[in-house]
Amino acid sequence: MQQARIERLRTVLQEQGLKALLITNAVNRLYMTGFTGSSGIVLISETKAYLLTDFRYMTQAPAQATAFEVVEHAPNPMETARDLLTKQGISKVGFEQNDMTYGAYQTTAKALSGIELAATDGIVEKLRVIKDESEIAVLQEAADLADRTFTHILNFLKPGAKEADIALEMEMFVRKNGAASTSFETIVASGERSALPHGKASDRILQADEFVTLDYGAYYKRYCSDITRTVVVGKPTDKHKEIYNIVLEAQMTALDKIKPGMTGKEADAVARDIIQRYGYGDYFGHGTGHGLGMEVHEAPRLSKNGETVLTPGMVVTVEPGIYLPGFGGVRIEDDIVVTDTGIKILTHSSKDLIALD
Ligand code: ZN
Ligand code: ZN
Repeated sequence: MQQARIERLRTVLQEQGLKALLITNAVNRLYMTGFTGSSGIVLISETKAYLLTDFRYMTQAPAQATAFEVVEHAPNPMETARDLLTKQGISKVGFEQNDMTYGAYQTTAKALSGIELAATDGIVEKLRVIKDESEIAVLQEAADLADRTFTHILNFLKPGAKEADIALEMEMFVRKNGAASTSFETIVASGERSALPHGKASDRILQADEFVTLDYGAYYKRYCSDITRTVVVGKPTDKHKEIYNIVLEAQMTALDKIKPGMTGKEADAVARDIIQRYGYGDYFGHGTGHGLGMEVHEAPRLSKNGETVLTPGMVVTVEPGIYLPGFGGVRIEDDIVVTDTGIKILTHSSKDLIALD
């Protein structure tokens, strides 16, 4: 698997006229090598694949990064990189422009003196966009755990409960069931706070007859799930039902229509058009979805300016919402994988409007 990724990377390097790439981004390092340590630099050329790390990892790194030659680097790792490049007669190397601060760039340029640095943009990230079967299997497990968490937490959603306590209970549940952590800080947004698309759990106490939005995920075997469900604690009013049903229709229609060959923009428009038609377009201020993988937000975007063409193997969220200030909001989010013919849905928690009496 690592070897296949190295070969895919080499093809891209060739297309870009690069003989070698330095990978400093931690997630990209893990993706390319399988090495789970916290420090290291990857150097891939046409014929060599190196993982440079320090003495703490000289047992772990060779065991995990089996397709790589592991090198214990000098106090300044870029000096070791320079030696390895010089040895191969390489005078120009790509670096990940989105991962380097100006300070790190200056230090790197100094250590690599005599070697030209070429800025690259998201080379490994673009490889990561298409998930292989083993990745999709793990993403499915992460999604399953998110579903089980929803079933579990329904018992805790009642008037008098505190948002922060609900979030803690959800985090304990995912961790007890094999996740290293949640994918991001859990959102529990009740009452008028449910109109905040990113309302992290607060000290607010749940009241009767109001929305509660739960947006969370499991970070499981180094992959993320990301799901949102909105329920009513107590009895839903007509207004609750109205906006819930519009969001549900938008979300279900998007799931029905999204297929390979469509751009992120077209996928976004499927959900957005429905919400607009009901007159709530101004209250849906974010994109319909985002890529999901080793990071909770990655390419591609399903948004007004999503140019990426959806391709089999891409894993994205579908999450339209309506947010009415002072009243509350609804978002419904599932994780899907784009297949040859359409999509496969990874999350399966109920989307009927659940009223918890
Ligand atoms: Zn989410
Ligand atoms: Zn999301």
